[in-house]
Amino acid sequence: MTVLRLVMMDDPVLHQKAKRVRRIDSSIQKLIDDMIETMHDIGGAAGLAAPHVGIPLQVIVVEMPEEDPIVIINPELVKGSGESEVSEGCLSLPGYRGSIKRWESVTVKGRDRNGKEFRLKAEGLLSQALQHEIDHINGVVYIDHLDSMENLYKIAPEDEDKSGEI
Ligand SMILES: [Zn+2]
Repeated sequence: MTVLRLVMMDDPVLHQKAKRVRRIDSSIQKLIDDMIETMHDIGGAAGLAAPHVGIPLQVIVVEMPEEDPIVIINPELVKGSGESEVSEGCLSLPGYRGSIKRWESVTVKGRDRNGKEFRLKAEGLLSQALQHEIDHINGVVYIDHLDSMENLYKIAPEDEDKSGEI
């Protein structure tokens, strides 16, 4: 497995819609393994979308502390409910956080790495991570959701903590 290089916010791959995966072949399996390895290498990251590592394909992984990673191919947001204001950061924009609105709970559907279709209901950080990564699949980044640039703030390097980064 290989640790992949993260692209930064100015990379066009983060601002375009990723392609649907048509065939889950060995190259997709390798991408999934490398994405999980990369997420673990960052330490405490809550999720990663393929565009984060410069690959415009609809593959995401999310992981909560003490739980197994969840792989979703061609993920779609089916339903969201209960809006709330959250603080969010992105691995591709280190040193910043923004206040944006997210659904408190979501239902997501997609395929697992064996191609089996499934649905997932989530709340809390998992719900936020799923919304963040599905946004990446659609070429949307969290700063696109800011009502005003005043809601984007810089954090001191000593306060920067990769846990929960998405
Ligand atoms: Zn991100």
